[in-house]
Amino acid sequence: MSLLNNAIESIQVGVEDYLMGDSKRYLSAVRNICAGILLLYKDKLCRLSPPHDKEVLIKKDIRPIDDGKGNVTFIGTGKKTVDVYEIRERFNSLKVTVDWKKFDQLNQLRNNIEHYYTDKSPDAVREVIVTSFLLIRDFISEYLEEEPCNVLGEECWQALLKTKDVYQAEEEDCRQTFLVYGFDSQILDRILANIRCPFCHSTLIKAKDGSDIFPSLSCCSCSAYLDFKDVLEEEEISYRDPESEGIFASCNHCETRNSVVKLGDKWICFSCHSIYGEVGHCEYCYSFIAGNSEDTFFSGCLMCEGQMGHYMNSSAYNHDD
Ligand SMILES: [Zn+2]
Ligand SMILES: [Zn+2]
Ligand SMILES: [Zn+2]
Repeated sequence: MSLLNNAIESIQVGVEDYLMGDSKRYLSAVRNICAGILLLYKDKLCRLSPPHDKEVLIKKDIRPIDDGKGNVTFIGTGKKTVDVYEIRERFNSLKVTVDWKKFDQLNQLRNNIEHYYTDKSPDAVREVIVTSFLLIRDFISEYLEEEPCNVLGEECWQALLKTKDVYQAEEEDCRQTFLVYGFDSQILDRILANIRCPFCHSTLIKAKDGSDIFPSLSCCSCSAYLDFKDVLEEEEISYRDPESEGIFASCNHCETRNSVVKLGDKWICFSCHSIYGEVGHCEYCYSFIAGNSEDTFFSGCLMCEGQMGHYMNSSAYNHDD
């Protein structure tokens, strides 16, 4: 079993202990979570180790050898692996940043527990456990480059998400993924306030590159992969009127088809980021377009040239040439 699997298992057991809500189980929670976090750190050290020895960085003793081609290289020796102090040293020189103050709190508590001594009240212990949840989330997403919702398992991840710090960190991450698309903060607020996972109703939605104008999405709470249409659907029902035929309107400004969606009380083009207060049907060709549809019967829309175009192109008009 890989280090990461062991780490996750240990954290899951620890979180289960924590969820029992029994102060006697808190001590076991601290032990398991602390061990799990250390395994996460060791997994990172393995990932950073060079290909010739993927465990060199977790070995306490590192020895230089000649690789037979005249180069000096390093291998790990012995059975002993790095302790907290050495992990910290190696992370420092490899620029892996961890909030050691938070970790030390947890580790200190674990040491005290191992020696059958703690002066902390159950509430204080619980607080230290909850603080460690953010350490876990941050490290998995930043340094192991995994989605916490995918690796931690549902029960464990939902327990972490219930804490304010973890929730806020995820929320900020979601925001960052949309920022890549160049939305200004006002539009971004509108997007994030109006999309929701259809499966678990979470608003924690991350954007990923899509082949389309719309980014492809994933839910950070239940791991579902989503289409832009999915996250709007709930609202669609409430604003669908007999005349509207689709949830995507075409944009008069950048002339992109089906790029405008309703978010809150406004319509936003995902291609040019224009905001519209209204949408309607072209009175001539009946296309669903964003913006004012007044006079479209005569002047047309991006999809047609209206009555005027029809007249200009007609043989009657060309007769005088
Ligand atoms: Zn979901
Ligand atoms: Zn547009
Ligand atoms: Zn038209």
